[in-house]
Parts: sequence; structure tokens; C-alpha cells
Amino acid sequence: KSLKVGIIGAGIAGLSCAHQLTLAGHKVVIFDKSHGVGGRMSHRNYEKWGADHGAQYFTAKDPLFAEEVQRWIQAGVASPWLGKIVSYTHGQIVDSDPTKKRYVGVPEMSSPAKYLAKNVVLELSQTITEITKINGYWEVSSKESGVLPHQFDFLICATPPAQAKNLIGKNSQNLQVMCSEVQMQPCWTFLAYLRNPLTLDFDGAFINDHIFSWIARDNTKPERSRYETWVAQANPAWSEEHLDLSHYEVEPLLIEAFQNLTGAECDLYQTHLWRYAKLENESQSNYGLDTQNQLALCGDWLRTSTVEGAWMSGFHLAKVLNRMYS
Ligand code: FAD
Repeated sequence: KSLKVGIIGAGIAGLSCAHQLTLAGHKVVIFDKSHGVGGRMSHRNYEKWGADHGAQYFTAKDPLFAEEVQRWIQAGVASPWLGKIVSYTHGQIVDSDPTKKRYVGVPEMSSPAKYLAKNVVLELSQTITEITKINGYWEVSSKESGVLPHQFDFLICATPPAQAKNLIGKNSQNLQVMCSEVQMQPCWTFLAYLRNPLTLDFDGAFINDHIFSWIARDNTKPERSRYETWVAQANPAWSEEHLDLSHYEVEPLLIEAFQNLTGAECDLYQTHLWRYAKLENESQSNYGLDTQNQLALCGDWLRTSTVEGAWMSGFHLAKVLNRMYS
């Protein structure tokens, strides 16, 4: 049986699920509140410079995801990142495992998401606020357009758990409990353009005992801008503590921390708060499924907070639906 499926969230989990369902002959429509796809696999472009301000790179441990990454590489939307990655503790630098393969989207982190989105119907700039079952079919309403003209056999929430919980509401007790059990950690992110390149002898560093837990020279990734651009991510505890500050309040704190750490003079900079950046602990669920109510959940938070975890979650949900409705 061919299903009409609605997916809320065009991050890599929703898109991976949509891609597999489409291959099996189901009709899929994806909604996203943003004006582009990729969710947390995102890239910001400013006048002359730009940087990946969400996911920094991805690894591929599972053979299924490793095969997918090879397809992305062949399609020209991903590439290995050969930057020098270290760990850094109070000025002590230790090289990270040089055999570890790290990949990035090219020319930007969202490129694999754009590639997966090619063959699905996308409705962007639609913030879904309500889902309702009418005469056995799911309908969705958005903040921007009210009730949307679709009727779905099956509805999938591919958003972080807080948003999924609001949407699921009383429509599925089991799925709502799954959303409630998970906490996501925030991340204040700092992006800086430097006229004078830094002389630091690495391109990415995991930092211990500091406001920042990760800094990276974004322009060493393939096909990026030639301008010296750094991304710095505040650690989860610091981000949580400063969650209620405005951008104006947080900026001087992040600039000072970045300058103290690297000696940099930042010529241009931006900040961004990811309210639901990463999962605190790994989950074994893979996906959430309520066959009786024809509702499901997928996303990184049901597996691991990585691009791989999100892709695998969407993939496994689609496989089980494809088996059930073949
Ligand atoms: P998302 O990408 O969050 O997609 C969910 C989508 O749902 C979004 O596009 C959102 O706009 C949409 N949405 C939400 N609510 C609604 C609504 N009501 N209506 C419509 N649309 C809605 N992973 C790695 O592998 N390596 C890294 O180095 C790495 N670093 C990271 C650094 C940061 C700062 C962050 C934030 C994440 C990082 N991650 C990293 C994690 C990785 O980005 C995520 O695990 C993955 O991208 C999550 O994909 P997803 O599809 O599950 O969710």
C-alpha cells in the first residue's frame, strides 16, 4: 500500500526517513519552520565570510551510514576534512587520533541535506503548531498559513523532543512519554572572522576546563571561504548558565574568552544560541512508533546526538514502515 506521509522537520533525520520512504513508493511532504533544510547541519553566510555554525564534521561508524557517506562523496556533497585536530588542556596540546576519518558537507555542512531533499515535496517556512486527526487522516496547521491542504495516512515528528512533545500532545501517550524522558543541552556558539590569520598549529581543538569545549578554523574545510574564520562552541554547563542572556550580553563574554584562549583580534563576529544542541546521554530507541495512531518520531535524540545518529534514526524508522506497508 502506498502511504501519504507528512514529516515535520527537514533535518538530516527527517530527510533520511523521507528519502527511504520515497524510494519505496510512498508520497512524502516535509514541513520545516526554517527557510532552508538541514536543521542543525547548518552554515551561516555573511557578506564576505561564512562558517558551519552547528555540526562541525561527521564520522561514519555504522557500515550503512558509511555507504551513505560514500554516496554523498560521489554526488559531490561531502568530502573528508583533513584538518589537524587536537585536544587542548591549559596550553598542553595532544594530537587526536590521526586515523579517525572526519567528513564535512561541501560546499557547506547542509549540502547532504539539500541533496536528500531533491526528490521530496518540501514546504519551508511552515512552523507546525498543531496536528489533528480527522476522519482517520492527519491534518497539520502552521503558524504562517493555518490548516494546510494535506491529509496524511501517517505523520512523523522529526524535531528535537521539546518541539515533538508539544506537537504530539495528547495524540499518543507513549510517544509523549518518550519525548518527556529526554533532556537536550544548549550551546552558545561564537563565529569570528579575523583579518590576521592565527598562528595556532591546529585546525580544530577539543578544549578541557574552559568556557569553550571546541574551536575550529572553518576555512580549512574543503570548498570553504578563503578568509580566516573560527567557530567556538561554549561548553554545555556554561551555555545552560547563560541561557537567559541576550546576544548583546553574551557577546563580550565570548569575545574575551576567545581572545584569551587564542590571542586573536576578532574583526567581525556573530553569536548564536542552540537551545537544543545535543543529547545528554545516548538512547537505544532508534525511533518512536505508535502504529495504532499512525504517528512516529525520529531524530538524533533517539540514538546519538550526531549526524550519523540522526540519519540512522530516520533510516530505521523508514525501513520498519516500508516493511509494515509493503
Ligand atoms: P535537526 O537538525 O534539529 O532537525 C529538526 C528540524 O525540525 C529543524 O530543521 C527545525 O527547523 C525543524 N522544526 C522544529 N520544530 C518545528 C516545527 N514546529 N515545525 C516545523 N519544523 C520544525 N553532530 C556531529 O555528528 N558532529 C558534530 O561535530 C556536531 N556538532 C554539533 C554542534 C552544535 C552546535 C550542534 C547544535 C549540533 C552538533 N551536532 C554534531 C549534532 C548534529 O548536528 C545533530 O545530531 C543532527 O544534525 C540532528 O539532526 P535531526 O534531523 O535529528 O534534527
